[in-house]
Amino acid sequence: MHFTYVTLFSNLIEGYFQDSILKRAIESDKFKISFLNPREYSASKHSKVDDTAVGGGAGMVMTPQPLFDALSTLEDDAYIIFAAPVGKPFTQNDAKRLASKTHVVFVSGRYEGIDERVTESFADEVFSIGDYVLTGGELPSLVMTDAIVRNIEGVLGNSESLEMESFETPLLEAPSFGKPPIYNNLGVPSEYLKGNHSRIQALKLALSECKTKYFRPEQLLKHKIRTSYEK
Ligand code: SAM
Repeated sequence: MHFTYVTLFSNLIEGYFQDSILKRAIESDKFKISFLNPREYSASKHSKVDDTAVGGGAGMVMTPQPLFDALSTLEDDAYIIFAAPVGKPFTQNDAKRLASKTHVVFVSGRYEGIDERVTESFADEVFSIGDYVLTGGELPSLVMTDAIVRNIEGVLGNSESLEMESFETPLLEAPSFGKPPIYNNLGVPSEYLKGNHSRIQALKLALSECKTKYFRPEQLLKHKIRTSYEK
């Protein structure tokens, strides 16, 4: 799989791939990354990429020409994603779906965002990573990349860890406890220590439901609807 980042600040992105699981995944050819800098495609004398907004308004907008020229260099297999607070919320299902693409391109906005004509002309999808505004699309692009590559075969040591995670079903993951079983006088649920697998699973399900009810009640509703259909 190939990820291309269309960004004015490739350094912000590159650093994330220099350690841990993603570094190993690149070294073992699970995916590769490349960059396109719109500034290098600017036709203006000073390589300008932004200008004031047509019709007025605060701040600068990323102008169409450099992005049109940069994005036009991409080949047909490129699946182009724009990061924008106005996009649809990015979910685990999107991460799994996008892991089967051959080439995903993330376009990062800066300033007050990207000229709408660029998005209209090139975006296959537009995603938001949450209801807040960041200074640029680099972190959202990394967040989405990280969630996607975990779903590429062989990137995680243990593929079972994917199956049991939050958002694989509407229920959040049950609490986990690392060894030792007693630390600073704090214990773990005694059932976890007794070795009866089916009872541990039943307790984990009950704890998952409690956690989901507390943190994400709308997810619990989805779980209840799903399980009532399965009955
Ligand atoms: N004026 C824009 C608005 O109100 O929707 C915000 C622009 S933001 C300062 C600059 C860039 O950061 C955006 O073009 C986008 O690429 C990125 N960005 C900021 N917040 C984001 C979010 N929650 N999800 C995805 N991208 C985001």
